[in-house]
Amino acid sequence: MLEVSDLHVSYGKIEAVRGVGLSVRPGEITLVLGANGAGKSTTLKAIAGLVPPLRGSVTLDGAETTGQAPHRLVRRGLALVPEGRRVFGPLSVAENLRLGGYTAGKRCEETLARVYDTFPILAERRNGAAGLLSGGEQQMLAFGRALMSQPKVVLMDEPSMGLAPVVVDSILAKVRQMADEGIGVLMVEQNAEAGLDVTDQVVAMARGEVVYTGASGDARNHASVLRAFLGEAALAGPGA
Ligand code: ATP
Repeated sequence: MLEVSDLHVSYGKIEAVRGVGLSVRPGEITLVLGANGAGKSTTLKAIAGLVPPLRGSVTLDGAETTGQAPHRLVRRGLALVPEGRRVFGPLSVAENLRLGGYTAGKRCEETLARVYDTFPILAERRNGAAGLLSGGEQQMLAFGRALMSQPKVVLMDEPSMGLAPVVVDSILAKVRQMADEGIGVLMVEQNAEAGLDVTDQVVAMARGEVVYTGASGDARNHASVLRAFLGEAALAGPGA
């Protein structure tokens, strides 16, 4: 449903993304792995319309979306859970969620009820300020806010960042649950261990390029994947 091909993005002279191709299917999680600076976030931002691609194409259900503004992409079924959650701290949990549902119109309340079913902690805290939630709860809120637009595809930038492993596991379980309900998920992670068990496909990036694409089960033993998230030195051996 989401197809990216030959995507290039530059910041001035820095070629951050060079010829990236990947796909996300309904009901599946595609995990993009790579070390710091590999170009993962830039890939996600270009798909979400936050940075303009130099060339290449992004299509959603066969229709071209390359370079469209984020609010148009939301209406077409693409929702972003940004790095660092970006919840509105002074607003209540419910207000944050309603902001994500502005495209849902009359179905906003119905969708809100579904999000509360999925994340009971958000229902419990609905009237409290979002800024008072723990990091894990804020990640749930950012995810719930994305779901409020009833997306076909959710883009997630480093959901595990700064969270304890047990919290990461519970968030990834929710991501898996949403995928099992038919949503396609594209997730960027530096922390490979956090994602490999729940994902379907792995795309590993290094220096702006895709160096591996394959099923998650096969990725763990693949040298280029290890290199992508551990760094070149990981496979060079002692003294290298
Ligand atoms: P991280 O996990 O640290 O976010 P990443 O794999 O997501 O890393 P990007 O953030 O996409 O990598 O960065 C790719 C390259 O582009 C890096 O060399 C980075 O320094 C550069 N870069 C990223 N954002 C900008 C920007 N706004 N202006 C200039 N260069 C940038």
